[in-house]
Amino acid sequence: MSDCLFCKIAAGEIPSSKVYEDEKCLAFHDIDPQAPTHFLVIPKEHIGSVAEVNEDNAATVAHIFTVIAREAKRLGLQSYRVVSNIGEQAGQSVPHLHFHVLAGRDMTWPPG
Ligand code: 5GP
Ligand code: ZN
Repeated sequence: MSDCLFCKIAAGEIPSSKVYEDEKCLAFHDIDPQAPTHFLVIPKEHIGSVAEVNEDNAATVAHIFTVIAREAKRLGLQSYRVVSNIGEQAGQSVPHLHFHVLAGRDMTWPPG
């Protein structure tokens, strides 16, 4: 999508601090970190949110989870939280699927 912030980051049109990249996805540090470790993992193809996951793009989403597990291991994260907000009420501010990976501090439950 031409006016999507994360499509532009995925295409390299807007710079990001990369954690990992391959042909299907990109992981990069959040610009406003909410924990000592806070990066986002996004598909390079535009998917609006978890609400748009379907049989056609599910393999990409599964791949993202393998990347999260591998990068967390590589970074030595013992405990971490993976979050995806869907829709404005849940706090989604960028309408391109992304998984937050947060670690390095105590976390509360339920989330606010
Ligand atoms: P959401 O609020 O949709 O769950 O998460 C969007 C996240 O993207 C926020 O944590 C926000 O800080 C991050 N973000 C927004 N704009 C940029 C940007 O231009 N670069 C980076 N690296 N992160 C961004
Ligand atoms: Zn997009």
